[in-house]
Amino acid sequence: MQTVLVAGGAGFIGSHLCKSLLSDNFRVICIDNFITGDKNNLKDQLQDQNFKLIEADIAEKLPQSLFAEKIDYIFDLASPASPNKKSPRSFINHPIETLRANSFGVYNLLNLAKEKSAKLLYVSSSEIYGDPLISSQKEDYFGNVNPNGIRSVYDEGKRFGEAVTMAYFRKFDLDIRIIRIFNTYGPNMQVDDGRIISNFINQAIANKPLTVYGSGKQTRSFCYVSDMVEGLKNAMFSQKSKGEVFNLGNPKEMEVLEMANLIKKMTKSSSEIIFEELPEDDPKRRNPDISKAKSVLGWEPKITVEEGLEKTIEYFRSL
Ligand code: NAD
Ligand code: UDP
Repeated sequence: MQTVLVAGGAGFIGSHLCKSLLSDNFRVICIDNFITGDKNNLKDQLQDQNFKLIEADIAEKLPQSLFAEKIDYIFDLASPASPNKKSPRSFINHPIETLRANSFGVYNLLNLAKEKSAKLLYVSSSEIYGDPLISSQKEDYFGNVNPNGIRSVYDEGKRFGEAVTMAYFRKFDLDIRIIRIFNTYGPNMQVDDGRIISNFINQAIANKPLTVYGSGKQTRSFCYVSDMVEGLKNAMFSQKSKGEVFNLGNPKEMEVLEMANLIKKMTKSSSEIIFEELPEDDPKRRNPDISKAKSVLGWEPKITVEEGLEKTIEYFRSL
């Protein structure tokens, strides 16, 4: 049986990845410090004898027990991910931790991968494109990033994470790949994480005002989590991904206001839509060009926004 280490496995995407890997018959070790994730996301996984949870910070010296393990694959998803400063889970409120996770943390996991001759997948973000001047964004676009603005701890953190991952590939021929995730949503998002889908659904089902930031004309492209997990696995297990960078996301682009109206309609909510101040450096457009993932990995998302929202609304109603 092969062993997969998932860093950030108690988080939203990581918990789905752990579940999926267990059902594919891998042994799964999750390492997480619960800074933004939650042990509740791992209720089912903890019942599985092939699952092990280690509570630790990847930016600190890694636990000795990890070095005693046979590890074949490492997924690194460990980083705060929400830009909303109103949320206690936001990277804006954990600036140093975010920089450390994507620097010392990635470096520690790369060294572990080197020692174990394991394959590693580093999860980067569409945020490395900053406020893009071109749309859609292709992997060879360098981006338009404010290097010291309020979001820079995340944007520059992810850019460093990419750089150090590529350095281990070039210097040591380590078997790595980098995935730039675009907005992903679904069950196991935290109610209070401040991201658009969790905010709008929870506001709508409580019949509270939906808070649109700015004019709502800014765009995002929304990928359902099961599609993302398939993409991450394809990228890790493909023979053709070593040393490569891939965008993963759903190319259907929507305005934020359009999403507010859709969620209001789908939840049959009586909420009003209110407009609040646009956060600093909020990207105006974000839309992945996924032609590389399609041609090299044979991957594209299958779940429509309506189908994904239906499942996510059901999840939040069940809490
Ligand atoms: P999340 O906050 O739910 O999950 C991140 C997990 O990492 C949490 O469980 C957290 O406790 C853990 N973590 C953070 N720092 C850690 C550290 N130093 N040591 C150990 N564990 C640590 O967020 P998510 O949405 O599931 O995001 C997962 C990954 O995907 C992140 O790297 C994020 O940057 C990236 N990403 C997500 C999106 C999205 O739309 N969800 C978009 C782009 C990139
Ligand atoms: N947004 C919003 N209302 C909210 C939360 C987010 O209008 O309650 C907007 C936010 O300003 C951004 C988009 O929705 O333009 C997506 O925000 P999110 O925090 O999900 O992540 P981002 O894509 O900015 O990383």
